[in-house]
Amino acid sequence: MIGVEKNGLNKSKQQLSLERATELKTRIADFLEAKKHIKKGLDLTEQNKKNRKKIMDALNCTKEQWNDYHWQLANRIADVSLLSKIVDLSEKHKRDIEKVGERYRWAISPYYASLMDEKDPYCPIRLQAIPTIFEDVDKEGKLDPMNEQLTNPAGTVTRRYPDRLIINVTNECAMFCRHCQRRRNIGEEDLPQPASVIEDSINYIAENEEIRDVLITGGDPLTMTDKFLENILSKLRKIDHVEIIRIGSRTPVTMPQRITDELVTMLKKYHPLFINTHVNHPKEITIEAKQALEKLANAGIPLGNQAVLLNGINNDKHVMKLLNQELLKVRVRPYYIFHAKHVKGTTHFNTSVDDGLEIMEYLRGYTSGLAIPTYIINAPGGYGKTPILPEYLISRGKEYITIRTWEGRVINYTNHPTKKFKIE
Ligand code: SF4
Repeated sequence: MIGVEKNGLNKSKQQLSLERATELKTRIADFLEAKKHIKKGLDLTEQNKKNRKKIMDALNCTKEQWNDYHWQLANRIADVSLLSKIVDLSEKHKRDIEKVGERYRWAISPYYASLMDEKDPYCPIRLQAIPTIFEDVDKEGKLDPMNEQLTNPAGTVTRRYPDRLIINVTNECAMFCRHCQRRRNIGEEDLPQPASVIEDSINYIAENEEIRDVLITGGDPLTMTDKFLENILSKLRKIDHVEIIRIGSRTPVTMPQRITDELVTMLKKYHPLFINTHVNHPKEITIEAKQALEKLANAGIPLGNQAVLLNGINNDKHVMKLLNQELLKVRVRPYYIFHAKHVKGTTHFNTSVDDGLEIMEYLRGYTSGLAIPTYIINAPGGYGKTPILPEYLISRGKEYITIRTWEGRVINYTNHPTKKFKIE
């Protein structure tokens, strides 16, 4: 066997490989231990079934109704006495929910409510769904820190970039997330955009030929009917310069019943079509969410995830790593982790940038590149997404650069000049 000289010892390549493998095992030991204590939706199927039965009894609903997204939408839980039949709430918390509810709307799909831990007020599903008094006492946040209202050239369009834009088609959602960064749009009632406003938006896209990418969002566009959506998709597809269409929807997580065979058959007529969803915790990835996401993936729709970094929910390197790994298992590529903006009523969910950087530091090298999203700060004033990365480039000279590897090794790397070549 060929020997290799290392630290004055002559070792076989296999010996060295085994030593390196042992060293690599130590790099993952803490995660393997931590992961045993993080709740995963796919492990909680039986528990969720029991909760579902309780909610179905409370709402007097049949299995067919439960599986019908119209029923889920029409029966969103927005009443404290009903909610208190599903989870334990202290008398103070009940009063707080009533108080917050006078100012900010709340509603939870029965499906999403069935994922809640009955006893634990810090359950990540509960924190995302049930109001707390922190929303009411928030004096720091701004209603529209992104100045979205100043980036609205026509109809219901938001335009912040040269070649792409957003159409906001409704303010309706299956569940009004407590951390919602667009809560100023939620209002008191569900308001789909009128046909004339959608028409103005589509006309604006048709008249501006540099727009090659359109994101349909809301609220949640998948709360709308197939007919309403198809009307928009078919019109966009008639515009030659629209290359790709994206839909942003949290329904695969908050109301997976929405992903019907009919919806998927309709959507796949409008490829290239992409869907980004919004999952923040491994507990949200249940068997129902998995089936909904698989249905979309089987229709050839590439799926991405846009998580928000949220205090008490996922600002933990192990939770975020597990979330991204669980997403890949259900065929969703982690796309962004958004640093939460300073939106009024949500600032108790804000974290420091250090939390985000620690997570990013802990992902690179420690897990598959596919499980590593980009950490983004949305620049205040609507100036766009800005990626935030730990430093891997330590210094840069003309002939060499110094890099830091994921394990913290500092290495000089030759900076070869780019050569011109000519094929004769
Ligand atoms: S689904 Fe999206 S738009 Fe709707 S409340 Fe949640 S975060 Fe806001």
